[in-house]
Amino acid sequence: MSQRNIDAGPRSTSAGRDSGRDRDMGYDDDRTPDLNSDAPGRRRLGRKRVCRFCADKAAVIDYKDPQALKYFVSERGKVVPRRISGNCARHQRKVTLAVKRARNIALLPFTTGA
Ligand SMILES: [Zn+2]
Repeated sequence: MSQRNIDAGPRSTSAGRDSGRDRDMGYDDDRTPDLNSDAPGRRRLGRKRVCRFCADKAAVIDYKDPQALKYFVSERGKVVPRRISGNCARHQRKVTLAVKRARNIALLPFTTGA
């Protein structure tokens, strides 16, 4: 007898949840814009992340200039990822290409260390 009472319990609560879903949807509409408004703004340090090559059109990515490319290469010789360097996709591609060319003519290392 007690088991039947338990079965009846969840059904009554599930019906209560169904009625509450319509209200929750209304709250979700209010919540999502708040999360989005926080995300694209200032995330960390309030530092502006602009692709330096887009900002300065005079700057040229040259594979013959290892000093300039060194900024985009880690200590171990790996190319610095875009999320760190702040480059846009187009210029990161050019940087990567330039680094690979510079490696091939021994201006930059493929790898460093032991
Ligand atoms: Zn760019």
